[in-house]
Amino acid sequence: MDYKELVDVYNELDKTTKRLEKTEILSEFLKKIPKNDLQSIIYLVEGRIFPEWDERKIGFSSRSMIKAISVASGESESKVESLFNKKGDLGLVTEEVMTNKKQRTLRSKKLVVKDVIENTRKLAELEGKGTVNRKIGLVTELLGNSNAEEAKYIVKTVLENLRVGVSAGIVRDAIAKAFKVEVSKVEKAGDYIADYGEVAVLAKEKRLKGILLKPGRPFKLMLALPAENIEKAFKDLGETIQFEEKLDGFRMTVHYNGKEYNLFTRRLENVTKQFPDIIEIVKKHIKGKSYIIDCEAVGYDKETKKYLPFQNISQRIKRKHNIEETARKFPVELNVFDVIFYNGKNLMNNPLKERRELLEKIIKKEKRKIVLTKKLVTGNEKEVEKFFNQALEKGMEGLMVKNYEGSYKPGRYVKGWMKLKNVLEPLDCVIVGAEWGNGKRAGLLTSYRIAIKHGDEFEEIGKVSTGIKEKEANLTYWKLTQMLKPLIVKGSGKGKEVKVKPKIIIEVAYEEVQRSPTYSSGWALRFPRVLRLREDKSLRELSDLDLVKRIHNSQKKK
Ligand code: AMP
Repeated sequence: MDYKELVDVYNELDKTTKRLEKTEILSEFLKKIPKNDLQSIIYLVEGRIFPEWDERKIGFSSRSMIKAISVASGESESKVESLFNKKGDLGLVTEEVMTNKKQRTLRSKKLVVKDVIENTRKLAELEGKGTVNRKIGLVTELLGNSNAEEAKYIVKTVLENLRVGVSAGIVRDAIAKAFKVEVSKVEKAGDYIADYGEVAVLAKEKRLKGILLKPGRPFKLMLALPAENIEKAFKDLGETIQFEEKLDGFRMTVHYNGKEYNLFTRRLENVTKQFPDIIEIVKKHIKGKSYIIDCEAVGYDKETKKYLPFQNISQRIKRKHNIEETARKFPVELNVFDVIFYNGKNLMNNPLKERRELLEKIIKKEKRKIVLTKKLVTGNEKEVEKFFNQALEKGMEGLMVKNYEGSYKPGRYVKGWMKLKNVLEPLDCVIVGAEWGNGKRAGLLTSYRIAIKHGDEFEEIGKVSTGIKEKEANLTYWKLTQMLKPLIVKGSGKGKEVKVKPKIIIEVAYEEVQRSPTYSSGWALRFPRVLRLREDKSLRELSDLDLVKRIHNSQKKK
């Protein structure tokens, strides 16, 4: 299919903010797409080039993009850069310079979707020295074969900044509508295989039923809604609940298909290579011909054997070198809380009670290697309070609250699992701006403008500068500055403030939420402080406006 056809749809999608209209536009388009292009086009509409579960990133810098635009358009790099400083969006810059293109080089061929996907995928795959120029060449080739409008979208796609407002929900509904299948079936398939591209193809061919949960292939994990208090939790989840200690580690699923082991994070990144120690543990301690186990991996101090907060071990997740040594330095204990697949059978629809009983049978526990999460099954509020306080004394974040008879619902925030924390639920916010410091802190970004999400938009909710250390800590001003600098939107500065591309997510605690005309969300946080980086979360998982409103309501009742 010609890329032009997709570009027309991008334009149409861009024109409306209405969800139903977007769904209609997309579903009409999906009907027309030939089977061979369908999977790729779903990714491109979602603003990605790989399925959701695939951790590869394009990783093409604005600097390289300026070069590619310059070559493709015949404009000087400095002109492209100065336009970028003015407009703050390289997509728009490209459209402008390609429209005014000086020498009209002959397009060597018409741009088709397949070329866009193939070239951009190579960007993610090429590694090592000397590949920068090859990558720039690949992008230049695409731009050279594009008209101004196509080039705009190529640039946005390559910079992973498409933003035509197509959420996963719209993709799901459009697939259902286009291929006349129930929305719930499409959603279920999406949860199982975390790949709406493939789901679309299966829906078109009426093969959705055949989707199976398979060890080795990540699926979306079950997630928890905040519970206001114990009483409300019983109201929401029934008379008997399984309460578990909520540990401060990171989510990990262990997959074993009878031959190989795979480990996935909550964001479905494959981290098998980074955790050879865990593979050793599960080999010895879990019985079974095949399985998928859901756990929290918690770091502990090698000497004292005490649990460590997540930040201390977070570096293990991205490690590429010295893996064995890092594993020895920062050991983790697996705290298992669920089994979703066992000996060839999908257990998602079995009640938690049964899944937990099975776990007891198949896991040989050993402290600081592999244990089951500590649990209390009860209908008695007093008992829960005691368990909750004990957990807090032990340094836990609070309790997980689970429907004892409930099934495992992948990918959804439903009232099957809830979390009960002591303080007002911290918010996961994205940094959208920052301010340069003065004096001792000159050259460092020290105050951060933060936003939550509302639909597909980010809405500001305040500024935060406390909670971060000057030095010698996991999260320092220096570290955040290094992370934010490449994200600064050129030319966006007013005085000491800069805008940054929304990417870095931080968890923010506060005393209260209050209404405020100052920020676009209409809300502000009183006494905000940064708790930690949330590199494990994606932008889709930011706290949203509804949560803020709920927190405000619960505050009033106190
Ligand atoms: P949150 O990150 O605040 O949304 O809380 C949900 C996360 O808590 C899960 O994704 C797990 O990583 C973590 N967690 C800690 N202990 C448990 C537990 N006992 N059961 C389920 N999740 C847990």
